[in-house]
Amino acid sequence: MNALVVEDERNLADAICQILADEGTRADVTYDGPTGLSMARTGNYDAIILDVMLPGMDGLELVRELRRSGISTPVLMLTARTSTQDKVNGLDAGADDYMTKPFESAELLARLRALTRRTGDVMIEESTFGDLTLDLTTHDLRCGSKSVHLSGKEFEVMKMLMSSSARVVSKRDLLNRVWGGNSEASENSVEAYVSFLRKKIKHVESTVQITTLRMLGYRLEVIK
Ligand code: CA
Repeated sequence: MNALVVEDERNLADAICQILADEGTRADVTYDGPTGLSMARTGNYDAIILDVMLPGMDGLELVRELRRSGISTPVLMLTARTSTQDKVNGLDAGADDYMTKPFESAELLARLRALTRRTGDVMIEESTFGDLTLDLTTHDLRCGSKSVHLSGKEFEVMKMLMSSSARVVSKRDLLNRVWGGNSEASENSVEAYVSFLRKKIKHVESTVQITTLRMLGYRLEVIK
C-alpha cells in the first residue's frame, strides 16, 4: 500500500510515516496544502491522511478539489478540533473518515485498514493479458521482471479491462463499475486513469496497450 501524509506538524507527520513504515506501508509526506493536492491528484495513493489546518490550502478545500478532479482515494482527516460540526464539514467535503488528535497508532492503523479494505473480491490471485500480469492481492502490475504498483482506482480500471479480455469496455461501464452510479466522477476521470495506466504499462515495457475506440470505449490489445 502507498499512503500520502499531508500534515504541517512535522513531528506528527514523521511519526505517522514511521507508524506506517513499521506496518510495511510506503508513505510520502508533505507539509502544505497545495503540494498535498498536486501529489494526491496523481492518483498514486491507496489512502491519504490529511490534516485540516494546513498552510496554503486547508484540508477541507483540498479534499473538495480532489473529489472535483474525480480522484476518489480514501481520505482520513486529522484534526485537533472535536466539534461535531467540524466532523460533518470534513465528511461533507468528501473525506471518508475522521480522527481527532491526539490518537493512538493502533487506531490510525485500524481506520486505514477499514478505509482500504476491498469487499467482494473473488479469490483469484492474478489476472493476465498478453505479457501483463495483475496481482489481485498486492495490486502490482508485472511484465517480465518489471513491476509497478497501481493505486486503488487504477487497479479497478485495469482489472475490469483485463477481465473483459479483448472486448470493448465503455467509459460509462467503467464509471459505473469502478466509481459507482451515484458518484460525481465524470468520463474525464476515466480518461485520466486510463492515461495513468498507459504510463504504467509503458513503464513495465509491455506489448499490451489500451486502445481507444472512438465513441465506444477501450480495449486491451497486444502490439506486435
Ligand atoms: Ca495543522
